[in-house]
Amino acid sequence: MPKQLIDSFGRVHNNLRISVTDRCNIRCFYCMPADNVEFMDRSELLTFEEIERFVRVAAGLGINKLRLTGGEPLVRRDLSELIRRVSKIEGIKDIGLTTNGILLGDQASDLFAAGLSRINISLDALDPVRFKEVTRREGYEKVLEGIEAARRTGFDPIKINAVSIRGLTEDQVVPFGRLARETGIEVRFIEFMPLDSRQAWRRDHVVSGDEIAGRIQSKYPLTRLPADNPSGTSTRWSLGQGGGEIGIIAPVSQPFCGNCNRIRLTADGKIRTCLFSLGEHDLKPALRSEADDIELAAELQRIVLKKKPGHR
Ligand code: SAM
Ligand code: SF4
Repeated sequence: MPKQLIDSFGRVHNNLRISVTDRCNIRCFYCMPADNVEFMDRSELLTFEEIERFVRVAAGLGINKLRLTGGEPLVRRDLSELIRRVSKIEGIKDIGLTTNGILLGDQASDLFAAGLSRINISLDALDPVRFKEVTRREGYEKVLEGIEAARRTGFDPIKINAVSIRGLTEDQVVPFGRLARETGIEVRFIEFMPLDSRQAWRRDHVVSGDEIAGRIQSKYPLTRLPADNPSGTSTRWSLGQGGGEIGIIAPVSQPFCGNCNRIRLTADGKIRTCLFSLGEHDLKPALRSEADDIELAAELQRIVLKKKPGHR
């Protein structure tokens, strides 16, 4: 029996999200303060060697899918080099990236050549004014350039992640539906989640997955598609023959913890077994010490075994 990362509820983990930096070039109101953000000291960040070592250990325990995230992953210098390294690790089959897209125009072809398999671009509004209200920075045109560069480079599929927020981006749902129909880009709508320590979240600002589907349905034909992956986080919907697809991710109104197969590595080497968990397990001391890979693997297995059944 190969070694696995399995928790006490029988969930087998094959999916690792790696935050490569806590820095970002914009300031989405739900994620960061507008100014004076205190970032980690660079010496706190895992080096590429340390990340590579961790991935090798995790791959030995059945992790085969990676997603690089942040902060904004493209502000980490030489990200392509990290992708090149981890793509060579035995067992790693799929490497994804979640980015705000601002630096993608410059980096898309290097990322592709390095072995990146998929790209999700986060964009909450199809309008520069609304974009700035959400992000408190300029950059809308750069994101569009980034999406175009990703298409030219050959990334397929390209997905856009759009958070729907009452009174701010809820009116973007139908325009994003139109974009999906007209371009074949898959738009994945995400319910606004209570992730921030800054209390920007309010329950009455959540636009539920059902409401998102209803808003699209009022304009376009929408049919629920079968799940393509039992551990997938989104429901899939067809916009009609030849009309593209959307996804809806509804962790607030319809939590999907029962199938969760994910763990997270923070930029400073901590493991989080849930996006919502407040507790973290610091692996950096082990990664920076003489601890061997067998000890590291055993520690990771112990952490996953303690994973809770669901979130608040
Ligand atoms: N900077 C990259 C980006 O924005 O794509 C990667 C990191 S960002 C934290 C990852 C994703 O989380 C983005 O799609 C962002 O919109 C989403 N996100 C952050 N806070 C959120 C919240 N409170 N509710 C829903 N989605 C959120
Ligand atoms: Fe946070 Fe991503 Fe927005 Fe940056 S782009 S502020 S990391 S959600």
